[in-house]
Amino acid sequence: MSSAIFQQARAEGRTLLNEVESKQVLQQAGIPTTPARLARSRAEAVAAAGAIGYPVVLKVVSPDIVHKSDVGGVVLDLRDAGAVAEAYDRIMAAVTATQPDARVLGVAVQTMARPGIEVIAGMTRDRQFGPVLMFGLGGVLVEVLQDVAFRIVPLDERDADGMLREIKGFPVLQGYRGQAPADLAALRRLLLQLSDFVEQHPEIEELDLNPVLAYSDGATAVDARILLRDA
Ligand code: ADP
Ligand code: MG
Repeated sequence: MSSAIFQQARAEGRTLLNEVESKQVLQQAGIPTTPARLARSRAEAVAAAGAIGYPVVLKVVSPDIVHKSDVGGVVLDLRDAGAVAEAYDRIMAAVTATQPDARVLGVAVQTMARPGIEVIAGMTRDRQFGPVLMFGLGGVLVEVLQDVAFRIVPLDERDADGMLREIKGFPVLQGYRGQAPADLAALRRLLLQLSDFVEQHPEIEELDLNPVLAYSDGATAVDARILLRDA
């Protein structure tokens, strides 16, 4: 199944899967995400939102845009058809203003996930060690502090648990100031699923789930990006 999406990207001479494609592939592997539908017009966006159910999020889908929110390409928490139509226009205008040459396929319409602790999980390939998984807390502070843990694939249960506990921000996952603790078992499961997934797919060069929302019950990736190896 996932290979059909990989093949289509290859046929189009692409190595980058967009958010909609990346989430489809992850979903097929049993990795929890907020599935997204591609809408190519304002009317399609409104129809997709109605089918998914409110509240929804709209995000620009473009092979030329890596950081969608930096260009005004993400609008959260839309509660009705009017808000979706308006957000669609706002995204198109913002993208045209900031990146006029970007090719835009449309918008990804998806469920607005409930708030959780933002974490990131990803895979990069090391020339020596092969696929390596990364885990950390999300957000600007962590980008600055680079508070992340790495393990070589394949991971076992202890590796997954070690990654969670190794980051300096671990106390955040344990709950603080009245915030509920994160479901560590769900995060371990996610890391082990990712390990299996990348082991089964040597054609994947890089993978980013940024962010994953960690809850007291479960965890779900709300943004995803998969890069294939050069053919
Ligand atoms: P990018 O990283 O390309 O700027 P994201 O898809 O990560 O765009 O969206 C930016 C932020 O919006 C996320 O870090 C997250 O806080 C929030 N977000 C994105 N998608 C959802 C969603 N489906 N539900 C709730 N919040 C979301
Ligand atoms: Mg993101």
